Amino acid sequence: MVVTEAQIWDWLAEVKDPEIPVLTVQDLGIAREVLVKEEGAVTVKITPTYSGCPAMNEIEQNIRQKLEAEGVEKVQVETILSPPWTTDWMSAEGRRKLKEYGIAPPEGSSADKKTLFGTEKKVTCPHCDSRNTKMVSQFGSTACKSLYQCQDCREPFDYFKCL
Ligand SMILES: [Zn+2]
Repeated sequence: MVVTEAQIWDWLAEVKDPEIPVLTVQDLGIAREVLVKEEGAVTVKITPTYSGCPAMNEIEQNIRQKLEAEGVEKVQVETILSPPWTTDWMSAEGRRKLKEYGIAPPEGSSADKKTLFGTEKKVTCPHCDSRNTKMVSQFGSTACKSLYQCQDCREPFDYFKCL
């Protein structure tokens, strides 16, 4: 079968992140490049969001399964580590969905990285938009998130770390 790169991107837009099922591979900006070779062979290049993220293996499998289900015979998923993924790659749509899901989206750009160390980062509560929040734990439900609690509505929430 003959597929176009645009078609592959459409299919990738349906591949969900295993940890945050409201986000797709496209929202996260994980998929970097799609190459269609002859004979129905497709290569997808992905960059992991976080090197310690066990979900990456699952994402790779999900991409493979999705494309194979659509009839692509040879699917190759390559991991590119450089340049490293940053939250800047996350789409505006992705940030909006993340907040709706109850996870505080990354604030600012990755240029703020330095402020992650030493001083505590100010994060907005996804439930009531209060800035009066406090980090409870460096690690939330997964290593990629920190656990915060809102001092106003008292709701705990995950913050997607700005890497
Ligand atoms: Zn709140």
